[in-house]
Amino acid sequence: MTDAHSPDSPRVSHVTFEVETTVPTSHGTFRMRAYTDVQTGADHIAIVASEPDGAAPSDGALVRVHSECLTGEAFGSLKCECGPQLDAALDTIRDHGGVVVYLRGHEGRGIGLINKLRAYRLQEDGLDTLDANLALGLPADSRQYGAAADMLRDLGVTSVRLLSNNPEKRRQLVQHGIEVLESVPLVVGVGAFNEGYLDTKRDRMGHELPGQLHGDA
Ligand SMILES: [Zn+2]
Repeated sequence: MTDAHSPDSPRVSHVTFEVETTVPTSHGTFRMRAYTDVQTGADHIAIVASEPDGAAPSDGALVRVHSECLTGEAFGSLKCECGPQLDAALDTIRDHGGVVVYLRGHEGRGIGLINKLRAYRLQEDGLDTLDANLALGLPADSRQYGAAADMLRDLGVTSVRLLSNNPEKRRQLVQHGIEVLESVPLVVGVGAFNEGYLDTKRDRMGHELPGQLHGDA
């Protein structure tokens, strides 16, 4: 793996590459590269699709850095838009080439599955997604993206067109040495059960989302 150790700024990768294999999915056939997160022990996956001309993704590739969300992806929860976003990202890289970096240990913006469900319980009493985390004594968003940057670097991708509405994700990737050439909006899966959640992400957490989301589903 590429791990640039220079005398001035010794850096150690956040991840260790483990294995690469091909997996056919309902979205298409992808190369899946598994990594272990050196700091957290989590397993992360880079899902890789060739460009239309057959070339491997390189600088300027379309990239989605996606946080694990069991409730949204496995159970189809409508409280967030993670499932439709992941589906759209996989379809996009299948058609245009690119990478979906799937980060585990990011459930509930980093608070974990149980705490995410605790936050949902508080939301039943009227708290929004941000205040519910704070009421539990937990950070609004504790996700780190150094592992994603190192996975991209390992693939030879150091500049990206980022499929994201989240400026913090972009900021951290840049901080970790990945150039973001462009942010490509990914607004899918908006519905009656998550419009308040998306309003909070836009109005209180800086996400770049349209002002009027209602009715876009
Ligand atoms: Zn989700």
